[in-house]
Amino acid sequence: MNVYDDFFKNISPEEWEFFAIDFLADNGFSIINYPSRGIDGGSDGIVKYNNITYIVSCKHYFNSGKSIGTDTEQSILDRVYQHNANGFIGFYSTLLSSSLQNRLNQLENKINILIYDKNIISDYLPRISSFILHKYGLPNQFKYVLNVSKEEYEPLNCLVCNRDILDDNNISFSMALITRNNNNELEYLYGCKKCIGNYFDIGWCEINQVLHLEQLNGWIYYVNDLIKNNKVSYQFYKNKNDFESRLQQKVYPSNWGRWLPL
Ligand SMILES: [Zn+2]
Repeated sequence: MNVYDDFFKNISPEEWEFFAIDFLADNGFSIINYPSRGIDGGSDGIVKYNNITYIVSCKHYFNSGKSIGTDTEQSILDRVYQHNANGFIGFYSTLLSSSLQNRLNQLENKINILIYDKNIISDYLPRISSFILHKYGLPNQFKYVLNVSKEEYEPLNCLVCNRDILDDNNISFSMALITRNNNNELEYLYGCKKCIGNYFDIGWCEINQVLHLEQLNGWIYYVNDLIKNNKVSYQFYKNKNDFESRLQQKVYPSNWGRWLPL
């Protein structure tokens, strides 16, 4: 069982074509043509990389599990030339049949061929922007994850108004920050942006951001560094511990894409 099976399963065949283009763009390809509806002459989009123009052929048979063979992937060379391209990308949510693999091997001295099958795409998914995963995978099912059972879950309440800032509806509007109190000690605050956003801060993070592990680690390092050279308030460590431990309940799995500021 691949951790991304649900992700593949929930993409419709039509979305699969757009996902392919977004995926390739995120991996450095320039988009020449988006997928078009109707008679498209067998191209689900055209992309370019290193002066090679590729037609993209998308097949989404994940739900049937059918591998892609020469019966479904026909006249590859004609389609490439028809679009004045010199490359072919197969973008498949299943695997290739050996007949297609053999066919592609024969074409390799005529055109550039790149194949992204289910296994290869899965290997890339942890590195593509989580924006794309959200766009295609999460919104209809779940936007955020919950790493503990509902019974075990402990809210992280805004220090000002007591609202749970880890509630799915509040995450986008919440943050944490470090500020200085009147005794010149550091204070660790978390809450709604509208409750604490006006404080003068030494550093801050958005909850959406630190739900990504590498961002959370960056924040923790940053705060630990501040502590070394500053006095902290007596609430500081309690707030820091509550924040870090409760946030873990909703941190994305480490194989779930990286955070990109938009
Ligand atoms: Zn609040």
